[in-house]
Amino acid sequence: ADATVPAGLKISVYGTGYLGATHAVSMAELGFEVMGVDTDANKVAALAAGKVPFFEPGLPELLEKQLATGRLTFSTDLEEAARWGDVHFICVGTPQMKTSHAANLGYVEAATSTVAKNLTKNGVIVGKSTVPVGTAARLRELIAGLTPEGVEVDLLWNPEFLREGKAVDDTLHPDRIVLGGTNARTEAIMREVYAGPIAEGTPVVVTDLPTAELVKVSANAFLATKISFINAIAGVCEAAGADVTVLADALGHDVRIGRQFLDAGLGFGGGCLPKDIRALMHRSNELGAYRAAALLQQVDEINMGQRERVIDMTMEALGGSVLNRRICVLGAAFKPLTDDVRDSPALNVAAALHLRGAQVTVFDPEAGDTARASFPTLSYATSAEEAVEGTDVVLMLTEWKQFTSLDPAALAKVATSPRIIDARGKLDPAEWRAAGWEFRGLGRTAA
Ligand code: NAD
Repeated sequence: ADATVPAGLKISVYGTGYLGATHAVSMAELGFEVMGVDTDANKVAALAAGKVPFFEPGLPELLEKQLATGRLTFSTDLEEAARWGDVHFICVGTPQMKTSHAANLGYVEAATSTVAKNLTKNGVIVGKSTVPVGTAARLRELIAGLTPEGVEVDLLWNPEFLREGKAVDDTLHPDRIVLGGTNARTEAIMREVYAGPIAEGTPVVVTDLPTAELVKVSANAFLATKISFINAIAGVCEAAGADVTVLADALGHDVRIGRQFLDAGLGFGGGCLPKDIRALMHRSNELGAYRAAALLQQVDEINMGQRERVIDMTMEALGGSVLNRRICVLGAAFKPLTDDVRDSPALNVAAALHLRGAQVTVFDPEAGDTARASFPTLSYATSAEEAVEGTDVVLMLTEWKQFTSLDPAALAKVATSPRIIDARGKLDPAEWRAAGWEFRGLGRTAA
């Protein structure tokens, strides 16, 4: 054992949203004593009572298990957590500013200041939130001015790559661990924290602060670019009478390209990709890296254009207007296996059609409640069959597995007019057409 690593590390996790709650529970699963803290008293109360306040497969079971061990607690007392912990993970939100593309760093600054001011023993502050490059260096200065005398604290950056829907597995078995701005002491502590995944062979990339910050946003920018690339090609396919789903499969056989993130369709959304590429666009411009900013601008525009494209297709399918027409929207979550509707393309399209006078009924297997909270004026059904009943057109906007196994023949009987727009490229046009449906897809030839 390394003498500089305190025995029985205590881990404080600030922010218990999608990232922080998963991280806190997972650190307890790795054997540490963990305190999860959040300014949102409702979230803390729910977690302390064994309820995960959002849908994440596997997390409720693990939360229950770890609460029972006594290793995991939740609190609203940030100061107490700062006094208690050895390793302080900052997992608070960094949403897009209301008035610009930049990231709002207010929560990260507030949480970091509270921790720094209240430390009573040596520790390490570990940034996990996704931040614009340069943030960590500024936080270091902030911390230096706030930490009580005699307390040794260092900041490092350890960006998080988890995916919602696979968050637990991604945290316990990550593809890589990136540590930015470590010294011998903090690197030893982090290798202790992640001893489990490291023993399984997870690569550790030790680097400086700006590189660590940039790895995260570059990963998201690359994935976003891949999606917008295939969506741009889908436009060419439509114009040329080609089929983008077959094309994507063929491209994907090239191992240099790979099939993942090549699904043409309604594009990306959620609480991460859109705001992260916009923040990187903004930061690239500030740094004078105009080419990166221009590329990301295109990626964002192509992506948002897909939502317009689906709205236009819907109008077209209904003869030019959606006024008073009944539209069934399958899917509200920004992707399957989550109830997250932040910047959801599906809900965004549903709301836009509602604003144009359509009667929109939405069904989502998990995101009905979160969707209703964001858009209470839409109607919500409790099953796909109920949502399809009496509809003039069905829009498949989130590729839940349930939707790919729907029975087109049975649904054709309950729809007023069997028309469907598959905005995720996951349904088999031949099967739906054979059951009497007028079928439209993005990047595919019309019926
Ligand atoms: P979230 O909104 O679900 O959670 C953020 C939490 O921080 C909220 O519960 C909020 O109440 C709390 N908070 C705000 N200020 C606080 C403070 N001063 N002290 C304590 N708690 C405070 O957001 P999220 O999705 O968990 O994202 C958090 C960060 O992680 C973001 O930077 C995001 O980009 C990044 N990230 C998210 C994911 C993901 O899949 N959700 C993946 C990787 C990285």
